[in-house]
Amino acid sequence: MIGPPGAGKGTQGALIAEHFDIPRIVMGDLLRDHVARHTNIGRVVEGYLGRGELVPDDVMLCIVRQALIAARAAGGGYVFDGVPRTMAQARAAYTIAAELGMTANAAVHLRVDDRELMRRLLGRAALEHRDDDTEAVIRHRLELYQKAAQPIIAWFAQRGILVSVDAMRQAGEVGREILTALELLPEPTGPASVRHPVDLSGLGAGCA
Ligand code: ADP
Repeated sequence: MIGPPGAGKGTQGALIAEHFDIPRIVMGDLLRDHVARHTNIGRVVEGYLGRGELVPDDVMLCIVRQALIAARAAGGGYVFDGVPRTMAQARAAYTIAAELGMTANAAVHLRVDDRELMRRLLGRAALEHRDDDTEAVIRHRLELYQKAAQPIIAWFAQRGILVSVDAMRQAGEVGREILTALELLPEPTGPASVRHPVDLSGLGAGCA
């Protein structure tokens, strides 16, 4: 999944995961879970999360590798949310996935214009009483996203895996369009169409 904050990556990623019965790997959730459980990783990443900075690539990539190995054991499919955030992460994660025979079949890109994102994010900030999420702060986050995402999106397009969707519409409509597009993709070749349950909790032990 790739898209700006507020585009609906969580909602649509969950829909895809449920539809294809594959695990959803949400980097932010995995990292927050480590912090909550006071693991070694949690101690390493806590400050970064608090400041809203990217955690070091070696930690992030170690978790990516473990997540992909777990997903492969469960049948091979996965949805990534929150990875990659930079071109360096994109290349590194691709190398790991290629080693494991698990490169992505599709990159779902959610397109929403800045005005609508601002509306959604200010609404969310009010609901969550996040007074620090002012218009200026949100605008800055959106600018950072645009700058980082453009080369990544171009790279997905070049690889022929970009599925770009107009995500200005209602979530249900967006979801139907995504599933239709993904259903039309050629069947991934390779092992295992059998799905097994997968437990991603505690991923990252031994990474820090
Ligand atoms: P947000 O969209 O507000 O950044 P996330 O839940 O996606 O929320 O991420 C929360 C935090 O987790 C980020 O601020 C960052 O510290 C860390 N994080 C998430 N994904 C990555 C990543 N790919 N690389 C490095 N750090 C990440």
